[in-house]
Amino acid sequence: MSRLVFLGPPGVGKGTQAVGLAQDEGIPHISTGAILRDALSRGTPTGLEAKKFMDAGELVPDEVVLRLVKDRLSEDDAAQGWLLDGYPRNLDQASALSGILSQMDQSLDHVIYFECAESELVRRLSGRRTCRACGDTFHVEFAPVAENNSCKAGGSCDIYQRSDDQEDAILNRLKVYQRETGPLVEHYREKGHLIVLDGSAPIEIVGSALRDALDQTG
Ligand code: ADP
Ligand code: ADP
Repeated sequence: MSRLVFLGPPGVGKGTQAVGLAQDEGIPHISTGAILRDALSRGTPTGLEAKKFMDAGELVPDEVVLRLVKDRLSEDDAAQGWLLDGYPRNLDQASALSGILSQMDQSLDHVIYFECAESELVRRLSGRRTCRACGDTFHVEFAPVAENNSCKAGGSCDIYQRSDDQEDAILNRLKVYQRETGPLVEHYREKGHLIVLDGSAPIEIVGSALRDALDQTG
């Protein structure tokens, strides 16, 4: 059983690593970005409210995201553990999460912080491609879509480039990350929850370092 938060800048590989780890551990991968994109594609009021923030690479207001996270953590499949990817993203969200967890009589096991230089993040984000149906991510150079790529949602993946993976939004997201999310590293280090990994290594190497680190900490 694990209750994990993945922390790190946009493009560092949180989603890529989260998919496999959540599957191995049998816990849900809860990506607030994916939940918001799904709400947007269904045209729900939450999705429409979030759209302008997401397009600009700004954070969606805390109360909107908190509601989504609270509902998702209360679902049955999250009773035995979960992997939060992209939440919390500022200190207020971290304290909101800690409030929800104490209400649910749960506690956070580890925060995995993926580090990477900014120039590499820009390369990763500008080459990222996403499947509209299953949400999996690929990279034009580092993780190309295989021929006959089968989609978890059935059929073949429907690949597109996210509108916030264009240059202007990328640069703003990196700034927002430094300003809003960066302080969470010290916050969780002080609480003794932090595991730091080198996110700049190739995908398989990061994946084994992640599993080794979790095995060592128990
Ligand atoms: P995040 O969820 O942190 O924003 P993603 O997992 O979506 O990041 O990865 C961003 C992009 O970089 C994707 O195109 C992905 O295929 C690619 N990628 C992820 N991890 C690595 C890695 N270790 N090396 C090279 N490319 C990577
Ligand atoms: P990435 O990992 O590439 O930054 P995400 O898929 O995690 O992208 O998030 C995409 C967008 O969704 C963010 O730029 C932001 O607008 C919104 N978002 C996701 N998670 C949060 C959050 N915890 N708080 C506020 N906004 C969020």
